[in-house]
Amino acid sequence: MQCIFCNIINKEQAANIVYENDKFIVFKDIKPLAPTHLLLLPKTHVVSVNHLEEKHKELIGDLFLLAKKIAKEQGVDDGYKLTFHVGRKGGQIVDHLHLHLIGGWK
Ligand code: 5GP
Ligand code: ZN
Repeated sequence: MQCIFCNIINKEQAANIVYENDKFIVFKDIKPLAPTHLLLLPKTHVVSVNHLEEKHKELIGDLFLLAKKIAKEQGVDDGYKLTFHVGRKGGQIVDHLHLHLIGGWK
């Protein structure tokens, strides 16, 4: 299976990683839409929100708590956007679940 985000997780492809633990990785978007544009991913390969199951409940909860923590660490917690693109019609290009954290506007 070829997945560019799994390749980044496995360190087969470079990325500007800002945070990593056993369950998640956070790196800078290659084409940032704002001064701060990060992608937060579970390391386990889930395709999209449409592919979430009951077993992912804790993972998804932890992903939002991580977003809050990263926003604070990055100094953008006074205002930011969290976005999931779902499916091609929803603008999803990479089929590995990821949460966009976008902010840093003056
Ligand atoms: P999607 O539209 O699937 O939610 O967004 C995928 C995001 O991943 C896009 O904003 C795109 O710029 C970013 N992206 C795609 N390929 C790479 C890559 O190889 N490295 C990094 N850092 N970001 C990527
Ligand atoms: Zn993947």
